[in-house]
Amino acid sequence: MSKYDIIVLGSGPGGYVTAIRASQLGFKTAVIEKESLGGVCLNWGCIPTKALLKSAQVFNYLNHAEDYGLTIEKADKDFSAVVKRSRNVADGMSKGVQFLMKKNKIDVIEGFGKLKSGKKITVTDKNDKKTDYEADHIIVATGARSRELPNLPQDGEKVIGYREAMTLKEQPESMIVVGSGAIGVEFAHFYNSMGTDVTVVEFLPNLVPLEDEDISKQFERSFKKSGIKVMTNSSVESVDTSGKKVKAIVKTKKGEETLEADVVLSAVGIKTNIENIGLEDLGIKTERDKILVNDFYQTNVQGIYAIGDVVAGPALAHVASAEGIACVEKIAGMNVEPIDYGNVPGCTYASPEIASVGMTEKQAKEAGYELKVGKFPFSASGKAKAAGTPDGFVKVIFDAKYGEWLGCHMIGAGVTDMIAEAVLGRKLETTGHEVLKAIHPHPTMSEAVMEAVADAYGEVIHL
Ligand SMILES: Cc1cc2nc3c(=O)[nH]c(=O)nc-3n(C[C@H](O)[C@H](O)[C@H](O)COP(=O)(O)OP(=O)(O)OC[C@H]3O[C@@H](n4cnc5c(N)ncnc54)[C@H](O)[C@@H]3O)c2cc1C
Repeated sequence: MSKYDIIVLGSGPGGYVTAIRASQLGFKTAVIEKESLGGVCLNWGCIPTKALLKSAQVFNYLNHAEDYGLTIEKADKDFSAVVKRSRNVADGMSKGVQFLMKKNKIDVIEGFGKLKSGKKITVTDKNDKKTDYEADHIIVATGARSRELPNLPQDGEKVIGYREAMTLKEQPESMIVVGSGAIGVEFAHFYNSMGTDVTVVEFLPNLVPLEDEDISKQFERSFKKSGIKVMTNSSVESVDTSGKKVKAIVKTKKGEETLEADVVLSAVGIKTNIENIGLEDLGIKTERDKILVNDFYQTNVQGIYAIGDVVAGPALAHVASAEGIACVEKIAGMNVEPIDYGNVPGCTYASPEIASVGMTEKQAKEAGYELKVGKFPFSASGKAKAAGTPDGFVKVIFDAKYGEWLGCHMIGAGVTDMIAEAVLGRKLETTGHEVLKAIHPHPTMSEAVMEAVADAYGEVIHL
């Protein structure tokens, strides 16, 4: 039986990054994968969606070429070529992980892994052949899949999840998107840009409901302006797929409405892959669909750890990677700080983009802080005006007493590439005045961060 120091079960951004860090630290490492290297993120999540969204952005630019003084006879799209490009990007990224595994001398074991007692894993390959492996430490990183609601069963054709949504053979004429978290609104934006008639149904009062309320409101305005129909405070009660189109009964504050569309995309969250992987046999504790772990990702069973989407915390690729790194560094005996979940950035790549970190204004108030809040609209930014993307703003929230940067919320073009400034600033316990005294390049969208901070302290220049 092959024996390793560390075996990682699952090769998503949690698993493969963990394996690389483990190998860097001198551990003999293997990763087990039943599908494609790179997990959901590279194959079915972060990367292929961003490829689709890039096509949408280029198409939108072409359709508005005259705004930039350019003439294009008629912009057109080839939906299957757009999907193919996205798949090629994903495949290329997965091959990149293959290269990284080789470079870092990590064994890749193909097949379905199931934990056994005695720190062993049985792997069943595609020919049903079973092989046992053993390790001193086993890290479970089996991720998650699209969550199914009982009243919205996915048939893969008329009621679909995210995998089908990024590989449809034909572009639907109409689509109902259920759920307005990042995944829902990214697909809503993509299909709307391609010309599909899109309606978003959200149970809560605001779109992107986890964001600061100002962001949600601006986002809803922009979404409606782009032609997407928005139904908040509404829920899909049932779907009827017996006809050519899907009929969805939607409960709203005003009563029931029946919507009709070619497809319904269910984007109501995720379900962790914790079944049939031996957790029960080993007595590994779970709670509310997540594996229970301590600050360094140890389960209640010695030598077994879990990271990524299978544990509590934000289901994001960068979180999964950070957890995996912390987990193996701790195993290596390094002096590791637990992850600060209060400083995890979240990004939504629709148009406008959203990026945020830290507390919303409401959360900060509820936590009892006295606040200094600043805002800078991109309509006052030279770079945004020149780029033709003046929608959106940066909002910063500081503790009035000690100057702590409590939260930063952005909406607008390219803000997902700007939020790291706030993450780093907060990590280094930077005060508002220090941000103000850090010269930001002109003209850039990033000046809006400095100006928003200046606004919080009554020193804004360009408003
Ligand atoms: C449409 C979509 C868009 C997203 N966009 C973003 C984004 O922009 N930014 C972001 O940060 N996050 C995004 N996410 C979330 C992100 O993809 C996940 O948080 C991330 O992939 C979780 O990583 P993971 O390693 O925990 O699990 P996964 O990526 O789910 O990987 C788990 C892997 O384990 C394998 N596996 C499972 N069980 C077994 C088994 N028993 N044996 C062997 N292998 C097994 C699976 O095949 C899979 O490859 C998106 C998700 C979706 C669905």
